[in-house]
Amino acid sequence: MTVELVAVGTEILLGNIVNTNSAYLARECAKLGLSMYYQAVVGDNPDRMREVIRTALERSDIVILCGGLGPTQDDLTKEITAEVMGAPLIEDARWKGILEEMINAYQKNDPRRRFTANNYKQAMVPEGAIVVDNRNGTAPGLILEKNGKTAILLPGPPNELIPMFRDDIFAYLRNRLPETIISKMVKITGIGESQVAEEIQDLFEAQENPTIATYAKTGEVHLRVTARGKSEEECLALISPMVQELHRRFGNTIFADEEEQTLEGDVVRLLKEKGFRLSLAESCTGGAIAARIVNVPGASEVFTHGFITYSNEAKVQCLGVSSRTLESFGAVSEECAAEMAKGCLSAAGTEAALSVTGIAGPSGGSDSKPVGTVFMACAVQGECRVKEYHFSGNRAKIREQTTVRALTFLRECLLER
Ligand code: ATP
Ligand code: MG
Repeated sequence: MTVELVAVGTEILLGNIVNTNSAYLARECAKLGLSMYYQAVVGDNPDRMREVIRTALERSDIVILCGGLGPTQDDLTKEITAEVMGAPLIEDARWKGILEEMINAYQKNDPRRRFTANNYKQAMVPEGAIVVDNRNGTAPGLILEKNGKTAILLPGPPNELIPMFRDDIFAYLRNRLPETIISKMVKITGIGESQVAEEIQDLFEAQENPTIATYAKTGEVHLRVTARGKSEEECLALISPMVQELHRRFGNTIFADEEEQTLEGDVVRLLKEKGFRLSLAESCTGGAIAARIVNVPGASEVFTHGFITYSNEAKVQCLGVSSRTLESFGAVSEECAAEMAKGCLSAAGTEAALSVTGIAGPSGGSDSKPVGTVFMACAVQGECRVKEYHFSGNRAKIREQTTVRALTFLRECLLER
């Protein structure tokens, strides 16, 4: 079954907003095992929309459109799709009732809010369409099946589109598929993509069902194992030996078996498991590692302090790094990183501390310490290990790599305990 995406909005064509909806929808469709050969972006122009929607419906079984479902004049996705598919718009009494309730609730907070003629436009749906609830906005999602083709219309704002897709559309699409498709994402850190590829060359060449695909991320390699079968159990039974084989080959470098699991999530899990609390001393990452840690719900149980010690004075004052170390070796040095981690450990009174200090550039490098030189230290219960890295790329890329490597290093140190 083929699926095609059409994102509607002149703002996307102008580059004013980034088309994150299509990226999200494409990933979800891949998870379902749907084949996607085309994605389109079209501005809010009726003629061009008509042309794009007609073409998409001719060459793909399912067309997912996003954006342009709002109440205003330039929101035309529903009107044009209904026209192209030959379905007149009729009033949906249920959604009209829901809309009225929503507007009444708004009015309580803001008496100027009225139910306008525009709003009623959102209660009009193509005849025969399935109306999908929108718990975060006034435009319902719509599924229109006609003449062997399906159009799925979703609102543009990601905070409306994502929950709607996750809660309703995903299951709808899965039920439409002749077979069940399940995938697991095995995530690896600390090994490069080419090495991973080499180590699974044989699995890659022999793949049938399940299939295996690699994706490289900064500091991580993801392997998606996908099986097709008659039932979920059948798929899981096919996936399981492959996932076990990957664990046998990659051991501790695997930090996740599921798409939604993250590196920082695994670090927090390990800290909880060991009963350790964590503090951080960051220089060149400026709090990026702490931001990753607090992404994890429940991080407060294990994360206590984050010191951003950007200047030498801050490193001395907050972490007790000695001035002599800074004079003799510089702030970007093995010695300084180690003193930062040990100082952090005692200042915060935690069992684990991680420090990073480096040169993110574009200036500040030298022959002996070029841009991209980073030292990180991890102190766990008084024992301290230091690592030196040389990253390439621009300032943002170097800071991003440092953040991921630091989390990987911390994870390694925790696993050793
Ligand atoms: P509204 O009722 O807000 O008008 P809509 O369904 O008509 O919703 P649009 O008007 O196309 O949607 O877009 C509304 C907002 O949603 C945009 O300003 C943008 O912030 C976001 N948005 C729209 N399309 C995309 C997209 N493809 N990727 C990411 N964000 C998007
Ligand atoms: Mg709009």
